[in-house]
Amino acid sequence: MADHLARTLSADSTVRGLAAVTTDLVEEARVRHGTLPTATAALGRALTAGLLLGGLLKADERVSLQFSGDGPLGTILVDATPSGQVRGFVSRPGTHLPARAGKLDVGGAVGRGVLCVMRIPPGEVAPYRSVVPLVSGEIGADVASYLAGSEQVPSVVGVGVFVHADGRVGAAGGYLLQAMPGAEASAIDRLEQNVDSTPSPSDLVRQGLGAPAILTRLLAGFATRVLEEQTVHFRCRCTRERVEGAILAMGRAELLDLLAGERRAEVLCEFCSARYVVEEPELRALLPDA
Ligand SMILES: [Zn+2]
Repeated sequence: MADHLARTLSADSTVRGLAAVTTDLVEEARVRHGTLPTATAALGRALTAGLLLGGLLKADERVSLQFSGDGPLGTILVDATPSGQVRGFVSRPGTHLPARAGKLDVGGAVGRGVLCVMRIPPGEVAPYRSVVPLVSGEIGADVASYLAGSEQVPSVVGVGVFVHADGRVGAAGGYLLQAMPGAEASAIDRLEQNVDSTPSPSDLVRQGLGAPAILTRLLAGFATRVLEEQTVHFRCRCTRERVEGAILAMGRAELLDLLAGERRAEVLCEFCSARYVVEEPELRALLPDA
């Protein structure tokens, strides 16, 4: 089952649901960054949450989520687009903690701190920035708290990653449910009951459920239709041109130093761990005129 995201709306438009299966892209992130299991789960949950929030955006917008906690993991940074592209990294990929209550201790790895969400419109327009305190560092509840506080939409967010004993990702996915203005109290009660009686997102994916089936289960009792289904991917926006732009931005003096010393530049993209090597002739070509 290729990674995908599905979106649905109740017949009366008062309940919105998104669900995603992200097993392959979380495994790709693990391989790219060399994360250990607790870091894999934290990054995978954040990548999945990014895609779910991205699914709420208008075309050409982007969303970035930065979890800054005082735990051993450091910062998690992800960004996602409504077209289903996501990338991200953690500052300490080698983080692994003892399990807590039989689960990977993501909350302990993230610690206490803040979640900063930026919605970035297309063009040179300033982003919309919200900062909320972390609820638990478990990612799902933190993102739900952002939606309820900053966006004023009561929401439930569940994200989960199952990691095999050998460190590989066995299943990953998540969902986002929102009660829109006009939703009846009884509808919200039913949503809560459905969520309480549904296994964790990673269990649902392990059972072989796709995103539409996850939504059907969470929205049992509501008349709904799946509005859209799309594939989702780990994809970075770094390019050789951008790397050369960054080298150029160092300025003439720094570039001359580099040419006098190492005579080549090595640049590592934080988001995807791609390594770019710019050799001497290319560096000379970048050198601005005196
Ligand atoms: Zn990159």
